[in-house]
Amino acid sequence: MAHEDCLFCKIVKGEVPAEIVREGERTLAFRDINPQAPTHVLIVPRDHHPDAAAAAAAGAGLLDEIVRDAHEVAVAEGVADTGYRLVFNTGSGAGQTVFHLHGHLLGGRGLNWPPG
Ligand code: 5GP
Repeated sequence: MAHEDCLFCKIVKGEVPAEIVREGERTLAFRDINPQAPTHVLIVPRDHHPDAAAAAAAGAGLLDEIVRDAHEVAVAEGVADTGYRLVFNTGSGAGQTVFHLHGHLLGGRGLNWPPG
């Protein structure tokens, strides 16, 4: 189910353009408009869930699918062997700005720990 004012619902519907790298039946992966690493891809469910916890509570297995998709994209982008990070910012205090679940796949450079 789409939410009218949700940016990522609009990308899923093709109303806002994005560079799509993988299309799944229930998921979509597209490049972040403001990349923080050489590979920075967002993996989203097609249906609207505000965050990872909400999707987990819905119990439809979407998070498993997003993690599998992220790994497939990482392999395709050539960053799986060197390592990548998959981040779910949850809540504005953690930097979430778009309240439609998305996993950030980051790779292609050294990634520090702890993250900022
Ligand atoms: P958050 O801060 O919610 O964890 O991540 C939202 C991400 O969406 C940010 O990394 C931001 O750069 C990205 N973003 C915001 N607007 C757009 C857009 O219109 N297109 C794409 N492809 N990415 C966007």
